[in-house]
Amino acid sequence: MILGRPGAGKGTQGVRLARHLGLVHFSTGAILRRAIGADTDLGRLARPFVEAGELVPDEVMVDLVEHALATPEVVESGYLLDGFPRTAEQATAFLARRAGTGSLDAAIDIDLPADEARRRLLGRGRNDDTPEVVDHRLAVDAEESGPLRALLQRDGLLVPVDGRGDEDDVFARILTALDPHRSRRS
Ligand code: AMP
Repeated sequence: MILGRPGAGKGTQGVRLARHLGLVHFSTGAILRRAIGADTDLGRLARPFVEAGELVPDEVMVDLVEHALATPEVVESGYLLDGFPRTAEQATAFLARRAGTGSLDAAIDIDLPADEARRRLLGRGRNDDTPEVVDHRLAVDAEESGPLRALLQRDGLLVPVDGRGDEDDVFARILTALDPHRSRRS
């Protein structure tokens, strides 16, 4: 899985890393945005949360991810989760359902200072990237990410990576940091 505050570069690096490692890539944000666009039941449920920069309820997200991962392709190739978990509750439920930490190699944690993340988000222009919503998303993340990191750290899964600078440099740092964690898949 790949973590980091909104704007830290999870999406960009996640797509790239999944391609590099041959993993199926799931962005929960992208899944929700598609569902909202298609006006499905999930989309109608998620829309007010996403538009306000709030988190969609944990039970909804845990079910969504479980469902997404239950395909032969994922079993065959492995997966990279981008944007999940966002809370310690999501991580706990996920690890419990997947029979513990053995099913997970690493949680890459891209670290970018909040002011730089805010600058990147405001330059991006997505629907939920207005200044008010961006600030709220950063505030929600600041509240949730401490307990989430502590939990993943305790399980020896957290792989911190400096997210500052160039996209290629960050990607190179991720590969280096992941090296000792990749025994199960290489
Ligand atoms: P992202 O594309 O990861 O920035 O996600 C965009 C929005 O989707 C977030 O601001 C949340 O409203 C929602 N979202 C994405 N992933 C999650 C998650 N794991 N838990 C709760 N809400 C989420």
